[in-house]
Amino acid sequence: MAGRRDLTSYRYRKQRARLLAESDICHLCGHPGADVADHLLPVSRGGDPYDPDNQAPAHGINRCPTCGRNCNGEKGDRARPEALNTSRDWYAPRR
Ligand SMILES: [Zn+2]
Ligand SMILES: [Zn+2]
Repeated sequence: MAGRRDLTSYRYRKQRARLLAESDICHLCGHPGADVADHLLPVSRGGDPYDPDNQAPAHGINRCPTCGRNCNGEKGDRARPEALNTSRDWYAPRR
């Protein structure tokens, strides 16, 4: 659970606001209306929660107004990889 509380920190919210001001196109489904900053490399897997290059707009619990998905929640870094066989792109290593 290390780092979990950092996600609600002032610094995170500030970065999220700036990110979403630049673009609210969800990087997971490609629709507008994103409301959270998703971490491309999950913090639980070593990603830097405060690196702007590790953040991209995504839909959260408010869900995408276009396709209705909770993109960030579906991806969830808690999910087991075997449960995500329809969404393998999200787990493809970025190098
Ligand atoms: Zn989305
Ligand atoms: Zn969508």
